[in-house]
Amino acid sequence: AKLAGRNSLRFFDPYMQQIVSARLRLEEELRRGLEAREFVIYFQPQVDTARGIVGAEALVRWRHPERGVLAPGDFIEGAERGGLVQYLDLQVLELACKQLARWASQPSTERLALAVNISAPLLYQGNFVERVLELVRSNGFNPKRLKLELTESLLLDDMPEASLRMSALKAHGIHFSIDDFGTGYSSMTYLHRLPLDQLKIDRSFIQGMASDNGLAIVRAICALASTLDLEVLAEGVETQPQRQMLENNGCHLFQGYLFGQPVPIEAFEEMVARAAR
Ligand code: C2E
Ligand code: CA
Ligand code: CA
Ligand code: CA
Repeated sequence: AKLAGRNSLRFFDPYMQQIVSARLRLEEELRRGLEAREFVIYFQPQVDTARGIVGAEALVRWRHPERGVLAPGDFIEGAERGGLVQYLDLQVLELACKQLARWASQPSTERLALAVNISAPLLYQGNFVERVLELVRSNGFNPKRLKLELTESLLLDDMPEASLRMSALKAHGIHFSIDDFGTGYSSMTYLHRLPLDQLKIDRSFIQGMASDNGLAIVRAICALASTLDLEVLAEGVETQPQRQMLENNGCHLFQGYLFGQPVPIEAFEEMVARAAR
């Protein structure tokens, strides 16, 4: 009895207790926040050397009533743990589709594209394809302006199923990008079997370009994209030398602080207008 008493002590370890209750509180808060539609998107410009701003990545922010504007690092993990990330992603996707519909009605913005992050629980949800198509239909915009960002690890969960779903959406014109490309453990043999449009080079490789090995990796990704006839976009581009090195290797699509941080819609549209002048 004494032993059991001692063992059960660890369940009352005050430190563990604190972590557990903080997690539960966050999940409860997330549920409330989703219900109250407190999530918004910030827009980080994607820039083509020849054409200027061609669109943005939609990055979620939580407009928390007490804690201010929170970035994904503060809550995405909690949403994943609590099984809520697909609801979050769906709200983001809905907001993105509404925005694409608004942009479609203005000549100055009609060509802008939006990239949206899709997590595994959403991609593999039973009615995912239908839901996306329904959002396209009900909002009314050209589906090729919508780009879904998927990670390698998500694709590897169930490649045949992922491929089917992507093809169904691709048939309607929706685009696909592989996010954080090169950071997964995958072999690259799957690439030609998926209906992809773009590889997105992870920021860690852009930072690594200062070294010879790092530069070689970026070169290899650019060459691979070109061989497979895919677009290549570099993320996390912060300096002019990085941009120059990328251009020298045939990468002309950028996202990063050099071009702009993620900002609310008003600021993003102002950037677009300023660039057009
Ligand atoms: P990600 O998809 O790789 O998004 C890029 C992140 O890098 C963004 O952080 C962006 O603010 C940051 N970033 C962009 N350019 C630069 C740069 O030049 N330098 C540096 N140091 N950072 C840069 P953010 O917005 O905090 O998002 C973090 C991650 O959260 C995203 O990484 C993505 O994995 C996830 N995320 C964002 N929105 C969503 C969403 O709607 N759903 C899901 N499931 N995940 C999301
Ligand atoms: Ca992304
Ligand atoms: Ca990324
Ligand atoms: Ca990244």
